Amino acid sequence: MAQIICIANQKGGVGKTTTSINLATALAKIGKRTLLVDCDPQANATTGIGIDKTALRQNLYHGLIGDVDAMELVHTTAVEGLSVIPARVELIGFEVEMMAHDGRELVMRELLDEVKEAFDYIVIDCPPSLSLLTLNAMASADSILVPLQSEFYALEGLTQLIDTVKRIKASLNPRLRISGILLTMFDRRTNLSFQVAEEAEKHFNDLVFTTRIPRSVRLSEAPSYGEPIFLYDPSSVGAKSYMALAKEVVER
Ligand code: ADP
Ligand code: MG
Repeated sequence: MAQIICIANQKGGVGKTTTSINLATALAKIGKRTLLVDCDPQANATTGIGIDKTALRQNLYHGLIGDVDAMELVHTTAVEGLSVIPARVELIGFEVEMMAHDGRELVMRELLDEVKEAFDYIVIDCPPSLSLLTLNAMASADSILVPLQSEFYALEGLTQLIDTVKRIKASLNPRLRISGILLTMFDRRTNLSFQVAEEAEKHFNDLVFTTRIPRSVRLSEAPSYGEPIFLYDPSSVGAKSYMALAKEVVER
């Protein structure tokens, strides 16, 4: 039965998609059957893992509105052991379509229940908002991993995120927990990165992952080739740190 990890932070550009793609790939590389679910209408994880979205007949949206079974949405990738449920811009319509639908926060959980047996890990890449899509992802998940960009204001907005997690835990998903805070785009040359790390550790103690993802040009280049860092540049520091993160995730 898969462990479901939701990668969430309502801020954009903090490394959610990069973390989703590369954590999912690293988990597959250590032998875990892994499914990456792209829950963002921008579909960056879909493109970044090498799926041509223009050629897609169906995507997560069609599963959520009940048009198709989850298994029909699962695509294989160039990484052995890694599958993906892709997204496309249609996903924007989900929110409006579900407005009058009872249990609208639980449709993703029902969809993923159909494929849970086939995987060890499911990694969900969330959109940069606390929208109905994110609530669905949180309602499906066992744990939430929060990427935190090592920049000024990094912790701003986290209270809102944590309140949302508490609300979901109290109402829809009692098993939900925050599995960890991940420092991304960490730059050892700047004091600011260390200050953000220190502040995060002050607030969240050992919830902060020991692994920090360094700022790396290679990590930012890989998606334009439709490749995770492990294919694009397997010996890079980016690949090494996402592998270390995967091991930490498995241990937690
Ligand atoms: P989000 O999904 O939270 O919006 P992304 O993962 O798309 O964030 O990252 C935002 C931008 O930063 C992208 O252009 C991405 O390539 C780049 N980026 C992400 N992580 C790193 C990193 N560790 N080093 C350098 N660039 C990064
Ligand atoms: Mg993203």
